[in-house]
Amino acid sequence: MTRHAISFVALAAGLMFNAAAFAQGAPDFSKVEIKTTQLAPDFWTLEGQGGTISVLAGADGILLVDSQFAPLTDKLVAAIRKVSDKPIRFLVDTHVHPDHVGGNANFAKLGATIFARDQLRYRLEHPNPAADGSPGMPAPEQALPVVTYNASLSIHIDGEDVRLLPVVAAHTDGDTVVSFPGHDILAVGDIFRSFGYPYVDLASGGTLAGILEGLSEILDRAGPATKIIPGHGPLVDRNAVVAQRDLILAVRGKVQKLVDQGKTLAEIVAARPAAEFAPRVAGATPQTEDRFVTWVAKEVLANR
Ligand SMILES: [Zn+2]
Repeated sequence: MTRHAISFVALAAGLMFNAAAFAQGAPDFSKVEIKTTQLAPDFWTLEGQGGTISVLAGADGILLVDSQFAPLTDKLVAAIRKVSDKPIRFLVDTHVHPDHVGGNANFAKLGATIFARDQLRYRLEHPNPAADGSPGMPAPEQALPVVTYNASLSIHIDGEDVRLLPVVAAHTDGDTVVSFPGHDILAVGDIFRSFGYPYVDLASGGTLAGILEGLSEILDRAGPATKIIPGHGPLVDRNAVVAQRDLILAVRGKVQKLVDQGKTLAEIVAARPAAEFAPRVAGATPQTEDRFVTWVAKEVLANR
């Protein structure tokens, strides 16, 4: 199993089970190694377990995008200290999933001020029930974003005008795309993943239409040389985002035809309208293909 495959399983587990069940099924964090990649003189990504972290580290201090899982904070800080001894001042959460916000409280204790959408803070305080119906565990006070927003917001640090761009209801209802225009870098969270099919967390307010809006937002801001940091999977350029948007539109078109023929959700999934695209989707499995088609079909059926 590749590292990305493991992180995908971890994410799925995080979505489906409560904290206790998740801990039992969680990977062994002690074995996780942090991979640091330099994208610019003052910009790095950190890949460990869960969502890829972005690090802007200049003279003013450090801004992070996402925080992975809490048990990894010490390793992440050690990796950060190899590239900068400046204070960790700001942390931006791209969305509420535990593989992106799990380290929030730890980084807050280290002095970071957390920024996120209003909806993300609300969901941390009022988590979805677990799969077995038991109530979700609210996040501790220190994990909560201190600065919340629902319109675009800028953080001026290290000579960069970091833009926090809300996308209304895409992967979840609290997504942010983070733009670093001076670096020509976009950190896009899970609105775009270069591993697996597009992922819509319906239980957290995500919509496929919102994913398409988010991909358009990314493409509007991405030039030919823009480095796009997905929530999961390798760094890409805008061509990969165009390909994913085209995949969604093509599958949606095929699903629309099946809906027009009066097919049911089960019949649509059984017809495998995404099958022809599977060879082009890294990490595709029949299960994730079915799940993706189900999301597409539910939205098309709802808009009949
Ligand atoms: Zn996610």
